[in-house]
Amino acid sequence: MTSVPLVAARHLTVTGVVQGVGFRPFVHRLAGRLHLSGWVRNVAGTVEIRLEGEPHQLDAFERALHTEAPPVAQIDTVATVPVEAEGTNGFAIVESEDADTVRPVPPDVGICAACEAELFNSADRRFRHPFITCTDCGPRYTIIDRLPYDRERTSMKQFACCPQCAAEYAAPDDRRFHAETVACPNCGPRVWFEGADGGGRADGDTAILLAATALHMGAVVGVRGLGGFHLAVDATNDAAIRRLRARKQRDAKPLAVMVRTLADAQSLAHVSLHEARALQSSARPIVLLRPRADTRLAASLAPGLDRIGVMLAYTPLHHLLLEAADRPLVMTSGNLSEEPIAIGIDEGRTRLRPLVDAFLLHDREILSRCDDSVLRVAGDHEVLMRRARGYAPVPLRLPVTAPQPLIAVGPHLKNTFTLVRDDQAFMSPHIGDLEGLEGLDHWWQAYHRYRELFRVEPTVAVRDLHPGYLSTRLADDLGLPRTIAVQHHHAHIAAVMAEHGVTTPVVGLSFDGTGYGDDGTVWGGEVLMCDLAGYRRVGQLRYSALPGGDLAVREPWRAALGYEALAGGHLQAFALAYYGVPLSLRVGVQQQLERGVNSPMASSMGRLFDAAAAVLGVRRHASFEGQAAMELEALAGDQHAPPLPFPMSEANGRMQLDPVPLLTALGEGRQHGVDVSLLAARFHESIVEAAVDVARLVAGSFGLDTVVLGGGTFQNARLLTRIERRLRESRLHVLVPRALGPNDGAISYGQAAVAAWRMAHE
Ligand code: ZN
Ligand code: ZN
Ligand code: FE
Repeated sequence: MTSVPLVAARHLTVTGVVQGVGFRPFVHRLAGRLHLSGWVRNVAGTVEIRLEGEPHQLDAFERALHTEAPPVAQIDTVATVPVEAEGTNGFAIVESEDADTVRPVPPDVGICAACEAELFNSADRRFRHPFITCTDCGPRYTIIDRLPYDRERTSMKQFACCPQCAAEYAAPDDRRFHAETVACPNCGPRVWFEGADGGGRADGDTAILLAATALHMGAVVGVRGLGGFHLAVDATNDAAIRRLRARKQRDAKPLAVMVRTLADAQSLAHVSLHEARALQSSARPIVLLRPRADTRLAASLAPGLDRIGVMLAYTPLHHLLLEAADRPLVMTSGNLSEEPIAIGIDEGRTRLRPLVDAFLLHDREILSRCDDSVLRVAGDHEVLMRRARGYAPVPLRLPVTAPQPLIAVGPHLKNTFTLVRDDQAFMSPHIGDLEGLEGLDHWWQAYHRYRELFRVEPTVAVRDLHPGYLSTRLADDLGLPRTIAVQHHHAHIAAVMAEHGVTTPVVGLSFDGTGYGDDGTVWGGEVLMCDLAGYRRVGQLRYSALPGGDLAVREPWRAALGYEALAGGHLQAFALAYYGVPLSLRVGVQQQLERGVNSPMASSMGRLFDAAAAVLGVRRHASFEGQAAMELEALAGDQHAPPLPFPMSEANGRMQLDPVPLLTALGEGRQHGVDVSLLAARFHESIVEAAVDVARLVAGSFGLDTVVLGGGTFQNARLLTRIERRLRESRLHVLVPRALGPNDGAISYGQAAVAAWRMAHE
């Protein structure tokens, strides 16, 4: 029998999201359990571990590192090197070394089950403490000032630990061992209630009770949360919701609801296993669910739609408020319309006073603004519609190393930006629209914060092709030595390619509302043959005029008018589109179109959905972009339907899909009394059929085997899953957005991928 050395030693380097997530305490506990000695420390974004002990215990350690890691940790790689045994004793957490390199900043983490149990346990010393956290949960990104992540570099620094909390922080077997956010009723932040005018202040439990009482009475309460303010109202009170909508100037856009438990969510909506997992994930996003027929929720939450956004309470404060209110609460971002959410106490008081009746406030500063994330489950995967809290600022990889650090400024609506250093892409949380000073201010604040946090000093700015966008001005204002412009629909496809690590040529179906085309027209229904360097536009929706330009987004009948003009005008099939539109207005717009005044040519898939909704008499005026498309999807449901004619022809060396026969068939069907939901389903199926045909044709003629789906239209779950399945059946590889959403939130990452690739290959 050969003898095994009694003691061996190893040095491990762990990369990924491994700092600020309770990783070192976990390693400490694990080493203790396996009788291993050594140390663990954070070094420049990685965790280094030195271990000494019996070889089989060392093996067990490496296995457990993966299987037992804290819920929020994401291990990318573990590099193991055998080292000389030194006969060490005990195990230590060695202090952070502040090296000058990029470090991952952990995202905010929803309250964990252990903390939730303590919160409602009257015997626990943190019973009803609104700021209970541990190494597994609590705020991170939104309270971090600088790195490395230690209490004195967060907004918890003003709350000096009491002796009991300090003892827990120092005790290796405690759940709060090295928890930077540890706090209790003696030493933690405070919560209070006050009227909109600042009067009637009450603290602690009374504050929560008063807020709940106000909500019962139909009041709008401004709640300072994790990444900013929410506006809360009783989600079962229709009048209260209407009041909130009027004050917030948000007349139809769906409002999200927060509940305390999964069971509460299930009482309001149908929740699949996958949706339950998403709801309960540590990111706690808003998940779009199908409401139950007997739901208690007010109808005005999401008028005309078949989905409501639901999230679970993600902070202890939310838990206490929901328990006291004992009903689902609307929790919508604390802002006016599309402005950025308020975060500071004084900012909240000033900006939200006209919107609220009262405030529920706390004194833990929010250093970074972060909206709630939104996703839906389509088929067997999650589609992110907004990537923010719980996801940002975890970096994404690029499939290419950028020779110089860069900043991709993103699109002008649904903006995010992406900072790149080497192959690390630090994408900002959702910023919103860059229209107006508030939006631009928010952009600059977030940009400076990111630059400092991740220590990236960009020398290259990346922007959209459009010369007039505010985002383009932003890129100029950065004053960097070099600027690179990237076409919008190319960026959509590049984002999905880069996310999947694909750099070879693909067929891209880039379907969305609008983006600036390289011929000066408005694009949005594009078939590209592309790689990361560039693209060739090999197919498109047939151009039609959009009389009024951007106005058409709010007035779907204008898109219908543009298509009708292609057929010579005055088609009986289009008649429903103008019902209720004053004749004088219609004639005026018609003349505008004929003279070509402010009537850009567009190939937009989003506007095609608008035109279809108008022709079907479903919607002629929209209060937000995409409303008509969402309603058509809701109407279509998952009913089976054959496609309608949507012919493809070749023009100027490019495939062209002609929507006129499709819209005509829809209008005629509707006027002959065909069920509108069946027609909505047939409309969807027509697009599926055409998309699959054109993708197969292009793939075949250029010898490509991969099709990439990108653009906001793919938030439509029916389109996404049907096109994906049909293409797979044709033996094509299909890449769909996963780590990022399909919409413009992904544009900055796509811009970054294209620019990095071009710079690396010049
Ligand atoms: Zn916890
Ligand atoms: Zn304490
Ligand atoms: Fe887009």
